[in-house]
Amino acid sequence: MPKDNPRHPNFPIPGGPEVRAKGWRQEALLRLMENVLSVGEDPDNLVVYAALGKAARNWPSHAMIVKTLLEMDENQTLVIQSGKPVGLLKTHAKAPLVIMANCNIVGQWAKAEVFYELERKGLICWGGLTAGAWQYIGSQGVIQGTYEIFMRIAEKRFAGSLAGRFILTAGLGGMGGAQPLAGRMAGAAILVVDIDAERARKRHEIGFLDEIAPDLDAALAMIDEAVAVKKAISIGLVGNAADIYPEIARRGITPDIVTDQTSAHDLVYGYVPKGMSLAEVKRLREEGPAQLMAASRASIADHVRAMLTFQGDGAEVFDNGNLIRTQAREGGVANAFDIPIFTEAYLRPLFSEAIGPFRWMALSGEASDIARIDDLVLEMFPDNFIVTNWIRLARENVPFEGLPARIAWLGHGERTRLAVAVNDLVAKGELKGPVTFSRDHLDAGAMAHPNIMTENMKDGSDAIADWPLINAMTMCASMADLVVIHSGGGGYAGYMTSAGVTIIADGTPEGAERLEHALTNDTSLGIIRYADAGYEIAEEAAQRGNVGYLPLG
Ligand code: NAD
Repeated sequence: MPKDNPRHPNFPIPGGPEVRAKGWRQEALLRLMENVLSVGEDPDNLVVYAALGKAARNWPSHAMIVKTLLEMDENQTLVIQSGKPVGLLKTHAKAPLVIMANCNIVGQWAKAEVFYELERKGLICWGGLTAGAWQYIGSQGVIQGTYEIFMRIAEKRFAGSLAGRFILTAGLGGMGGAQPLAGRMAGAAILVVDIDAERARKRHEIGFLDEIAPDLDAALAMIDEAVAVKKAISIGLVGNAADIYPEIARRGITPDIVTDQTSAHDLVYGYVPKGMSLAEVKRLREEGPAQLMAASRASIADHVRAMLTFQGDGAEVFDNGNLIRTQAREGGVANAFDIPIFTEAYLRPLFSEAIGPFRWMALSGEASDIARIDDLVLEMFPDNFIVTNWIRLARENVPFEGLPARIAWLGHGERTRLAVAVNDLVAKGELKGPVTFSRDHLDAGAMAHPNIMTENMKDGSDAIADWPLINAMTMCASMADLVVIHSGGGGYAGYMTSAGVTIIADGTPEGAERLEHALTNDTSLGIIRYADAGYEIAEEAAQRGNVGYLPLG
């Protein structure tokens, strides 16, 4: 039975033993699409997160996807073009059930303005990364990613602990809303600014924000007090980051860590320029998008200048993947890229070994299934501190949203072993239903994004999009259940290409075969991508892991 969803009553959380489709694989993908809407920011408009990241192109497309998943056989493949189902092809039982290409625009035309025009004409939609591919697991993925970044900074700069440290950031939306919890879990005093009071209220209601400060003076006083006694706390402040950051800098206050997760990638539907009300922004989206873009860019320039001031004064400042430096540079801040990107600064050694954001969801809807898999992970990988630490913390601190799910940064071989063991548990009836495995697109072999994932690659291969395309083709050849090629929309148009994959542990021997091939090849390609770029860690991992790398010597 689906479960009630108090946040969005019209979008129940899927679950239960009833299989509505012709098999569990089709049912699984249907539940995943239902799930991303049940946890989405604005499901009435099919938006899952990041202002425009949609689960399907429009409601007729959604209805056709549902109907097709309910009626299709295992030897067919549903083809989806930017959120619109366009064909049901005869393939075979080992082929993917769903393949998608979302928001890929030919290079010369891949610009925000062209994307908006195509979107308005109903010809394309953006899938975020995991939204359009139905792989989003709610805030947990980004909570974990943000927590891990904070902990890497703790190791690098603060002797392993953020107790008594002040983090300043902005953005309490679909992804950014995870920051207050991640900061508190990392032990810091974190201040998160958002222009939208409703977003702050929501994060307070679910306990991610401890307090909402009435004004900046009060917010800074709360932070001071917490820092003095090394208390972990998360404070929200309603305001425009392009006003608040410069004001904090003007007062001569230097936070220990500064970042930002406003939707700066999108100058029309995301970022709110200073001096404008939300109502005015809404009006300009329709009536004056060019004016809005210019105003957003000017505000982002001020926002980033303040971040650079903090950096100059000794703060650890980083871009958390929202393109804020790129927008600022285009707005005249020539040195915006003095701020590093989080992937290069903190995570590249992990990606070089194909350790990345692997995740799974319990299709039964039962939290007990995830608890059983948590135990299994703790048994199987007792020496993997990043993973065991996260699972223990997440069990205590991270509420499930939608289908119960877990993320763990596992690498080559580990992912395959775990997934096959889970498939066994499903086969033995030790779980209440099948489990799906996927990963974020921001994973070793799956994303080319020269301003996020592949910035400053050792061999200069930042902008080469062959790798994610090879990844998607390999996943099709490796029997994955859903394979997708995504590109950027809104401000991300022209900036990236990525691939996503989902495989279903349905307890069958065929399921085990699919998991074995797809997961092993996925991480193999990740290691190969970094080994090919000259990263020694990857070259060693390639030798250890027998990944099929063909070095030219
Ligand atoms: P969202 O649209 O759901 O939320 C953005 C929030 O920013 C909103 O609450 C909005 O009110 C607020 N905001 C906009 N302009 C502001 C301003 N000037 N001052 C203060 N608040 C402002 O977006 P999201 O899903 O939370 O994603 C945020 C950004 O992070 C996006 O650019 C997204 O693509 C990016 N992102 C990056 C990664 C990564 O690579 N690490 C992961 C997830 C999301």
